[in-house]
Amino acid sequence: MNITATKPVAIIGGGPAGLTAAAFLRRHRVPFILYEAGSKMAGLAASFHDTDGFSYDFGAHFINNRLAAAVGIGSRCRDVLYYGESVLVRGKTYGYPFGLLREPRYLLGGIASRIMPQSRERANHSAGAWFRASYGRTLADEVAIPLLEAWSGAAAEDLAASVGNKLQNTIAKTLFLKAASSFTGRAVGCGYSHTFPENPHVWHVYPEGGIGLLCQKLAEGIEDSIRLESPVDGILVENNRAVAVRSHGKEQAVSAVLSTAPCHILARMVQGTDAVKPFAQLRYRPMVFVNLRLEGRGLLKDTVVWTPEQHFTFFRLTETPLSMPWLAPEGKTLITADIGCEKSDEIWNMDDDELGDRCIQEMSEIIPDVRRRYLGCRVLRTPIAYPVYLNAYETVRLQLERSTGIAGLYSIGRNGEFSHALMEDVYWRTQNKVRTLMMQHPELC
Ligand SMILES: Cc1cc2nc3c(=O)[nH]c(=O)nc-3n(C[C@H](O)[C@H](O)[C@H](O)COP(=O)(O)OP(=O)(O)OC[C@H]3O[C@@H](n4cnc5c(N)ncnc54)[C@H](O)[C@@H]3O)c2cc1C
Repeated sequence: MNITATKPVAIIGGGPAGLTAAAFLRRHRVPFILYEAGSKMAGLAASFHDTDGFSYDFGAHFINNRLAAAVGIGSRCRDVLYYGESVLVRGKTYGYPFGLLREPRYLLGGIASRIMPQSRERANHSAGAWFRASYGRTLADEVAIPLLEAWSGAAAEDLAASVGNKLQNTIAKTLFLKAASSFTGRAVGCGYSHTFPENPHVWHVYPEGGIGLLCQKLAEGIEDSIRLESPVDGILVENNRAVAVRSHGKEQAVSAVLSTAPCHILARMVQGTDAVKPFAQLRYRPMVFVNLRLEGRGLLKDTVVWTPEQHFTFFRLTETPLSMPWLAPEGKTLITADIGCEKSDEIWNMDDDELGDRCIQEMSEIIPDVRRRYLGCRVLRTPIAYPVYLNAYETVRLQLERSTGIAGLYSIGRNGEFSHALMEDVYWRTQNKVRTLMMQHPELC
């Protein structure tokens, strides 16, 4: 290949997807320029540390040994020995999923839904119908649907049934993976990966220094082609083909574009065609993460406790040191409260201390002496956390799943694909898309 004669591929975004694409192109000696809007790489896979010895991961907390090995950081990761989830309903904590199934009212509802053909026929109509058909009315109405609505900010009847697709594991498979976890003494992944099957040999690990190590490793050796603080605000299309990108008012001719930008923003960036305009309607849910520093350890029953009842502002609490003890100093812990919100609402705009105070107030129902233990909080906000699968634009989402409709423009990564993918899936799916790009544009190689 003649590198100098080939126009570079533009990669938009320096999170796990953009860096995976960049590392892959470098391995195949395809020239590229990676544009990152921020001053640092890693996107939602960033880690922070404070002077009191607490570590915070922005969005992602867990990766697995299969991803770590593929990226080349396997030897720099510690095994996670335990991971568990519970659900708090009516003051009682149920292990997820089997504790819930031991509750007669949930079990009977689940059995009834299996033997009533009408509910299965309706399952494709909406996420609400899907959960009632799959879990039974009681469990759906008391647990799954309130969580879904708090998380997405939309009514379950307005959400597409495809929301349920990411909850793919059967009960038998879940039971098998949980048993493997107990037997091996490692946190075997369950419901984390979809590209490749989960099995007892795939467990959660944590990189030294934080999740951010993954992106550091991917960026090694490609620094010469990375431009930080370089937001791309235009993708120029001619004859339905992406031909250039614009950043800081400067145009760069390119052979193709791999964009990890959120789809509604991609729709605004593309100039010279209306092909991606429908993507402008796709919505993402903003999130506020309130990281509460506390005295003590093991304050929650499990690493993750789901709180579907509406009197809680948060829908999920995560005590990461239960799985990764090194994230907080000895004798202390960190609990993250996840709150879904909109950028115009009270929560998004609330002062950090006030947010911390509100969470502590509500958590006293779960940890009675939580106020005495409270040492302060650190709040992280992201305007784009979860894609919202509204029925109203399900056909547009499916269209995006197939392609952007523009030659040489590939939308990749979690926000680019408008998917709920976690990092291992982002990694393999991005590699597959870059492979497709190279097959469709043999002149690059
Ligand atoms: C709350 C939460 C918890 C999660 N937990 C886990 C977990 O435990 N384990 C796991 O594996 N995954 C987890 N994930 C998913 C994980 O964070 C994502 O899969 C991963 O970050 C996706 O990588 P990405 O590169 O697609 O996007 P991002 O990480 O969002 O990175 C995108 C990058 O693109 C840049 N960018 C965007 N637009 C432009 C532009 N126009 N010009 C230039 N740069 C631009 C952004 O600044 C950003 O740096 C979680 C996600 C969330 C929201």
